[in-house]
Amino acid sequence: MIDASDPNAIIGRIALGGLALAAFWRLIVWVRDAPVKPDPWDAEVERQLSEAVEVCPHCLTEQPPTAWFCKGCGRAVGPYNNLMPYLQVFSEGEVFRNGASGQFRNRPLILTGYFLIYLAIFPLLAPIYLLWVLAVFRNPPGGPGAPHLRE
Ligand SMILES: [Zn+2]
Repeated sequence: MIDASDPNAIIGRIALGGLALAAFWRLIVWVRDAPVKPDPWDAEVERQLSEAVEVCPHCLTEQPPTAWFCKGCGRAVGPYNNLMPYLQVFSEGEVFRNGASGQFRNRPLILTGYFLIYLAIFPLLAPIYLLWVLAVFRNPPGGPGAPHLRE
């Protein structure tokens, strides 16, 4: 063990610290001076993206850019639905309805997530909901082995 009062060890540590700072500064300069390429795609992809139409991720119904909810299935499709306090309630309700109707991936981690979220949000009604979700998880709507996802 090197003694902390050893002047050679102190100078060595200062030199290593200086080298580390110089390397860190060199990394910052390298990142700062890197060539900027704002779009990773070419003009053809840019044109196709500008002509693309937004669709509902659940039923693939075309959506206007200002839509909050899908006209076809009623699910939340707005870009800020999960951030706005009033609209967030509908998004959360959609998640819980999916759990109660068995329309989720058949994964124990997702089932555990439903249990924990519902216990945190609705602790008094949690046992009823949890038994319902567990029953749906064991007997999915399409029969045993059926995927828990909506078509
Ligand atoms: Zn839809």
